[in-house]
Amino acid sequence: MTSSTSQQTCYFCKVSSGQADPFIFQNRSFVAIFDTNPVNPGHALIIPKRHVVSIFDLSGQERDDYFDALYGVKDVIESTSFADLYPRMMTREDLSGRPMDHVEAVLELPFLTSKPDAYTVSNNDGRAAGRSIDHLLVIVLPRYSGDVADPRGGIRNVIPDRANYHRR
Ligand SMILES: [Zn+2]
Repeated sequence: MTSSTSQQTCYFCKVSSGQADPFIFQNRSFVAIFDTNPVNPGHALIIPKRHVVSIFDLSGQERDDYFDALYGVKDVIESTSFADLYPRMMTREDLSGRPMDHVEAVLELPFLTSKPDAYTVSNNDGRAAGRSIDHLLVIVLPRYSGDVADPRGGIRNVIPDRANYHRR
């Protein structure tokens, strides 16, 4: 396997080789972890083991393995107690000194112990779409009734001015 400078310094290459967060799932092509800055309880990330920048760069085998990972991560999310997970995350030695405000915030949520009502599955595929690290990650974000005031339109709301399709 060749290794470029970007791979040697790539944070998600470090994660996918097991040198950072504990895996909650892995298969032939992907690993998954719980995000340590969760937006909602169970917020997980699926990361290719190979240094792949875009979802459109996945090989045929990786495309198959992607769906296996997505289904597997959903099962893990739905069988995890977040009331146990997040207090444990706050005491992780490798995270000491890191801000824990997102973890503290999800621990206060009224649906912390609920099963997800829905999911947002997404990746920011390119800098213009909000990608900050050039190694693919797919966000698996559990959604809960009431987590936002009006969820209609979902991911359309990344462009708030044109999100609303309910014509008056
Ligand atoms: Zn990488």
